[in-house]
Amino acid sequence: MKRQFIAGANCPECGQMDKIQRIIDGDRQWMECVACGAEKSLDEKPAEATDALAQPVTLQPGPKK
Ligand SMILES: [Zn+2]
Repeated sequence: MKRQFIAGANCPECGQMDKIQRIIDGDRQWMECVACGAEKSLDEKPAEATDALAQPVTLQPGPKK
């Protein structure tokens, strides 16, 4: 089992930066936040999936009347 921090990645749960580890165990891999314990599977996508964490969340304002 191999763990490595993902530099610049924000946790989608607690929002802290540089707390995300990528964990590789055999042919499975997932991300885990060491601050809050949030996990996200990476099984379906290789390395690029980690980019989703680094992107800012865009909130769309609701429709105005
Ligand atoms: Zn977190």
